[in-house]
Amino acid sequence: MEVLMSTPNQRDLVIIGGGPAGYSAALYAARASLDTLVIEQGMPGGQIATSDMIDNYPGIEQCSGAELGQKMKAHAESAGAQSTYGSVQSLIRHESGFTITTDMDSIEAKSVIVATGATPRPGNFSGEETYRGRGVSYCATCDGMFYRGKHVFIIGGGNSAVEEALYLSNLADQVEIIVRRDVFRAPRGMVDRLSAKPNISIRYQTSIIEVAGSTFINTITFRDNATGKTHVESYDEGSVGVFVAVGHDPATNLVAGLAELGPDGGVLTDEHMGTTTPGLYCAGDMRSKSLRQVVTAAADGAIAATAAYHYIESLTA
Ligand code: NAP
Repeated sequence: MEVLMSTPNQRDLVIIGGGPAGYSAALYAARASLDTLVIEQGMPGGQIATSDMIDNYPGIEQCSGAELGQKMKAHAESAGAQSTYGSVQSLIRHESGFTITTDMDSIEAKSVIVATGATPRPGNFSGEETYRGRGVSYCATCDGMFYRGKHVFIIGGGNSAVEEALYLSNLADQVEIIVRRDVFRAPRGMVDRLSAKPNISIRYQTSIIEVAGSTFINTITFRDNATGKTHVESYDEGSVGVFVAVGHDPATNLVAGLAELGPDGGVLTDEHMGTTTPGLYCAGDMRSKSLRQVVTAAADGAIAATAAYHYIESLTA
């Protein structure tokens, strides 16, 4: 296809989000000679940037999420994609394309791929907001070092909770996983890894319903979900932490009014990652889907970029 000349604020394709979906899309788009800009607001890799280890991406036996994110970015850039930092405030469809407004800039694009991932779900217990950053955390890799030698609780029974527990077991003295049902959602192979760590224990059928303290947490209220009974445990102030790892909600704010959402809150796309807005594609964890993994995000990105290429080509045909 014809390579279109663009000014820095006019692009063929803008990709919002620098995770595996975004950088995979950027790689495919750049290889198809699209003038491609990725806008990322944090570390390359998105959610995986805080993952201690990725060991299920084919061909990469073990790699930290941060390293894999950097590699994906470098790969896309080596193919010709550009990336910039910025927080996208709005995405508007108009007659000739899209306007993307960031906190720094305004950019025009013929087509847009949104790959904004998902954000951590709250644990919904009393005191959660008050003690966020003062005993309540959502990221072991980010905040684990503050709990060296301390006692931590992890709420959740999925892969994230298991990963967070394994990571924190190398820092904290004592790690307890709080699972609300009598079974983990994470697969058995993953859960079995916990038994190799003597400082990890599990409380099944238990919920944390309240945290309280003064500057930091010093009491936690637990509920036994089998009996409904509650009890309070006290700790020295600052000696305890609660990590919430109960899943993620698709980050769909930017496409409100431009795309339909499914029952899980993710964007409904067609098999080409297309939305109800021509030229707008969504990829990765923000989509309504059954398996949110690096490999599925990367696949979405490749499909979306290929569809965007054909869409842009159709505009000039
Ligand atoms: P998830 O698989 O949805 O699991 C969420 C867990 O939190 C479930 O055990 C759920 O309990 C529990 N939960 C939800 N709300 C709760 C609440 N208010 N209070 C207490 N517990 C609550 O979420 P995830 O672990 O974040 O994983 C998200 C996706 O990423 C999954 O597809 C997962 O496989 C993937 N992932 C993969 C890896 C890996 O392969 N290395 C690592 C991380 C994440 P119930 O089971 O009772 O609903």
